[in-house]
Amino acid sequence: MQVYADNAATTKISSVALQAMMPGFEAVYGNPSSLHSVGQEAKEALEDARERVAKCLGCEPREIYFTSGGSEADNQAIISAARLGARKGKKHIISTAFEHHAVLHTLNKLEKEGFEVTLLDVKNNHNITAQQVADAIREDTCLVTVMYANNEIGSVLPIAEIGAVCKAAGVPFHTDAVQAAGHLHINVKEQNIDLLSLSGHKFHGPKGVGALYCRRGFPLVNVIDGGAQERGKRAGTENLPAIMGMAAALEDACANMDTNMAKVAAMRDKLIEGLRKIPHCALNGDAVNRLPNNVSFCFEGIEGESLLLLLDMKGVCASSGSACTSGSLDPSHVLLAIGRVHDVAHGSLRLSLSEYNTMEEMDHILTVVPEVVAYLRSISPVWRDLQTGKREYIL
Ligand SMILES: *Cc1c(COP(=O)(O)O)cnc(C)c1O
Repeated sequence: MQVYADNAATTKISSVALQAMMPGFEAVYGNPSSLHSVGQEAKEALEDARERVAKCLGCEPREIYFTSGGSEADNQAIISAARLGARKGKKHIISTAFEHHAVLHTLNKLEKEGFEVTLLDVKNNHNITAQQVADAIREDTCLVTVMYANNEIGSVLPIAEIGAVCKAAGVPFHTDAVQAAGHLHINVKEQNIDLLSLSGHKFHGPKGVGALYCRRGFPLVNVIDGGAQERGKRAGTENLPAIMGMAAALEDACANMDTNMAKVAAMRDKLIEGLRKIPHCALNGDAVNRLPNNVSFCFEGIEGESLLLLLDMKGVCASSGSACTSGSLDPSHVLLAIGRVHDVAHGSLRLSLSEYNTMEEMDHILTVVPEVVAYLRSISPVWRDLQTGKREYIL
């Protein structure tokens, strides 16, 4: 049995999305900017996709800009708000300590340009409150950028409340909704969101394509310069097959959201309940306001990387703190941000599910994970020290 439980990293493309892409490679091969009929057919397909994406977010089609993915959308949203702020002499940005690197690294770059960034603390409930945002807003705040849901630990943030706070204060509000789109109900107007990023491959769409919602009238700044595509705000010939696939995937995910998420949440709850029984472990992330597909634990006395390799050998594809992808030994900034100490943060496991998973697969995970954790502990010098009392348990 092979169980794919790494859907926060990427998802398998759905047949709906794959089928929707095919015409983009074949019949509709034109360049949407061409004036002839082949080009105009491509243009129609592009605008049709834009309409579908807009409908899923509760906005107008002209408020949707297609990008190369979530990272680009995050970069463009933040840089646009920063440039607007700088023009008004406002150079303070509010975000959280557990954002995705697409947000944090963009903020780092702005700090080097003289912006001041306040990262809200996420230790309480592994989440933030709208009050924290309200308390952090200053005269010179030009942007609040707060993720909709965390990709590592699954916390879902109080986006509507934060939107209301930002609107009342007149501060632009961006949310990285890459983990939320297609999984949680989004309505940018009701939630007072000015800028929102999403990515095709996190909801069974293709990779390398995303979208930025930008409220009408908000001045976007180009990150990619060149032609006049995307209302002049994002140059480059549109990746039409991917855009068509993403639109179909999002539409499908939104149409079946309640059914899919109920199924996924039941599997998540079964895993959390079962894995909790492993001694000296802790659940990461908000236990109540949580993505329906996220299970994240720290197990004391083991290394996450060894855990992942052994789980893979037993047919379970999972993930640990995402920083390890860079080959660095630093534990995940997200786990450190919620207050896990280095040793504990190293022993993390993230299982992220989709509606393609089954209860039988959950049974397999619940057999395999406790075995592998017990084995790794049996050969761990740290665990021996904990057991003999040379070291004190943290969890
Ligand atoms: C995956 C992810 C991104 C990056 O999206 P890409 O399309 O891979 O660039 C950004 N933010 C979050 C929360 C993510 O999970």
